[in-house]
Amino acid sequence: MLIGIDFDNTLACYDQAFTVAARARGLISDENTLSKFEIRNRVQTLKNGEAEWRALQGEVYGKRIEEAKLMPGAADFFLACKERRVRVVIVSHKTKFGHFDPDRVNLRDAAVAWMRAQNFFDKKLLGVSVRNVFFEGTRAGKLGRIKALGCSHFIDDLEEVLLEPGFPNNVVRILFDPDGRAANDRGFERYSDWKSIEHAIFAT
Ligand SMILES: [Mg+2]
Repeated sequence: MLIGIDFDNTLACYDQAFTVAARARGLISDENTLSKFEIRNRVQTLKNGEAEWRALQGEVYGKRIEEAKLMPGAADFFLACKERRVRVVIVSHKTKFGHFDPDRVNLRDAAVAWMRAQNFFDKKLLGVSVRNVFFEGTRAGKLGRIKALGCSHFIDDLEEVLLEPGFPNNVVRILFDPDGRAANDRGFERYSDWKSIEHAIFAT
């Protein structure tokens, strides 16, 4: 068994960071925290919405990444893997730099620093090896990596990734879908939280 896991919005939750950043840019005026997808839908309907959305993403995945939260239940999932000596790899589609980030933050270094701060690489805690974190510049590269590593399972928050024609066969496809946004349940297993994924894989 080799479990592959996506990074953005599967392990790292950016809802709060997106809300704060969008408010600071005057794109929304809500007091409460909105989900990333609610914010995307709102911002994309604004004038220059697509450009605004890309700039916002650059900021959140870059200099605001420290505000990201580990998804509830994800830490317990890593502990469950460690207990069973099940290997875990993290495979992320992430360019080195955001296309619209004037600060030129290295997004991959920022993600690794965030993981370190969340105790991912502490053997006594989550126990992931930094050598098992892979960043790919394209979606095709990500799928190629999942295949080359020989993942038995892959967990991602985007159904379009799991349903890509190039997605390797013989991998159990698991959709992490906390907001219940997926259009259908075909071609993958679908769970709304990490506890359910843990139960599904380990039947605990
Ligand atoms: Mg993702």
